Amino acid sequence: MKRAVFPGSFDPFTNGHLNILSRAIPLFDEIIIAIGTNTSKKYMMATLELRAEAIRRSTAHLERIKVMEYNALTVDLCHSLEAGYILRGLRTSTDFEYEKNIAQMNAFLAADIQTVFLISSPEHTPLTSTIVREIYLNAGDISAFVPPGVLEVLKR
Ligand code: ADP
Repeated sequence: MKRAVFPGSFDPFTNGHLNILSRAIPLFDEIIIAIGTNTSKKYMMATLELRAEAIRRSTAHLERIKVMEYNALTVDLCHSLEAGYILRGLRTSTDFEYEKNIAQMNAFLAADIQTVFLISSPEHTPLTSTIVREIYLNAGDISAFVPPGVLEVLKR
């Protein structure tokens, strides 16, 4: 069984995340979206539960996807789920440098787990959760950047 973990903060889950996820579905038997807390970030959807709810609504139309919260090393999570792959997206060279370090450190920690990268589609390259958060927190319209499921959860 080819099982991948797609880890991230997803604060919020954007159309860029959804695009990476949708394109990865044919590559794996199952993808587990694992929502974690990045200690260097300030959160908009403060609770993991809210972020999970938004992602569940946004991915309900997709098959072979699971959503969970976690608070551990990603490689430990992969081992506990018997997942051999970590899925990540790459937008820019800045992403590349950051992601390369994490992937190489994860390879030191767990040589049996491969990180698989998909390059963002051009229309999603400038889309970051950080910018979406800034727009939202300043009362701007984020509806072009996130799936409807995220907007539904934010409205409540
Ligand atoms: P983290 O805090 O772990 O970086 P994010 O939620 O910001 O979590 O991102 C999760 C993954 O999704 C990362 O690999 C990131 O590069 C990727 N990603 C984020 N936004 C986009 C986008 N617009 N297009 C493609 N990949 C993206």
